[in-house]
Amino acid sequence: MTFASLGLAAPILEAVTEQGYKTPSPIQAQAIPAVIEGKDVMAAAQTGTGKTAGFTLPLLHKLSEGQPAQGNQVRALVLTPTRELAAQVAESVATYGKNLPLKSAVVFGGVKINPQMMKLRKGVDILVATPGRLLDLYNQNAVKFNQLEVLILDEADRMLDMGFIHDIKKIIAKLPKNRQNLMFSATFSDEIRTLAKGLVNNPVEISVTPRNTTATNVEQWIHPVDKKQKPALLTQLIHENKWQQVLIFSKTKHGANKLTKFLEANKIKAAAIHGNKSQGARTRALADFKSGAVRALVATDIAARGLDIDQLPQVVNFDLPNVAEDYVHRIGRTGRAGATGQAVSLVCADEFKLLSDIERLIGKLLPRTIVDDFDPIHTLPESRLNLRPKKPKKPKKPKKPGVDHKDGQRSGENSQGHNPWAKGKLKARAKKS
Ligand code: AMP
Repeated sequence: MTFASLGLAAPILEAVTEQGYKTPSPIQAQAIPAVIEGKDVMAAAQTGTGKTAGFTLPLLHKLSEGQPAQGNQVRALVLTPTRELAAQVAESVATYGKNLPLKSAVVFGGVKINPQMMKLRKGVDILVATPGRLLDLYNQNAVKFNQLEVLILDEADRMLDMGFIHDIKKIIAKLPKNRQNLMFSATFSDEIRTLAKGLVNNPVEISVTPRNTTATNVEQWIHPVDKKQKPALLTQLIHENKWQQVLIFSKTKHGANKLTKFLEANKIKAAAIHGNKSQGARTRALADFKSGAVRALVATDIAARGLDIDQLPQVVNFDLPNVAEDYVHRIGRTGRAGATGQAVSLVCADEFKLLSDIERLIGKLLPRTIVDDFDPIHTLPESRLNLRPKKPKKPKKPKKPGVDHKDGQRSGENSQGHNPWAKGKLKARAKKS
């Protein structure tokens, strides 16, 4: 199959060829014709499947046929959970749309609003936005939706995890009823299906990765180790294996900073990326990591979500995530586009329950290797595979709201790098509204 056979216009095909893409990925092969036909789409696809081009290419095709956007109007709106993802989607729009006379813009929190208002003044064909900042702009009359033709929710599951459900509902209520809707999500939980019910009409359903399975081309194993020994073990692994580009996950922002300092002290160029870092610092850290100037990037889950780093060979879980699904997201950072990758987890005895949750979710036990000199004093119990599905938790009564969602991912994390709108609470809120 070729991109040309999917019905895309010549200027888009040229841009695709320039990118070196030869054949459409499975999600592209399914989504592109459906979107061009004007159908609603609900797609289960993780980062790394080519989903961004899957919606951007047909979107550009469609928009190139209609009337340009008028003052402050937007013709297609892409909502993303984080600033990084917004920036990456906007970059894709610019790359694939370079031969078309369409205008695009990206807006997110944490930076000045005025330049964003100026950009929107003449109208844009495609706007990529995080929900909080978009609502701010709308409330200041900087953006209008009378001309809106297409709504895209990217990484819808993560948007719900981060507590954006109310913002999303508010935004949807402001859009014209007659529009095309595309929804992309790594997983299709009941919450996502509930959101989808009120959003998409008779959608084409696409699934390119079975739910909650990990990529098969990622080699995974764990090193049981005492908590205190983790930094020393990590340093040794990086040096001994000569890992040149390693993405390390830390559960907390504080932990990410501390580990970065430790690595630097041990002659490993490192940078941290999390919600307390300024946008500039995060962009710089990512650029340095991509260029090779930084060897180890230490990230919290929310900050790392959606990072587009090609062919990342090595992921390390310095801490296991609190939510087992995040393990799948984390290791999705490696082994992309047919390349093989390795995902190593340093697991201490306290994390046994988290490990069991992960093994139950992915349906297999992770092989264990003890590194010489790092034999743990606190033994990590043997895991047994329990494949019974988890009982759904009863929704708890919500605590007082009071979280400001305006700033994209920053506001989704509290000072511990922990999401105060974790799933249980969110469900309760969603039910009440
Ligand atoms: P995504 O899943 O949208 O984050 O895309 C993952 C990566 O795959 C990006 O770096 C794209 O540049 C790349 N990509 C997207 N489509 C194709 C394709 N058809 N062939 C080769 N690479 C692609």
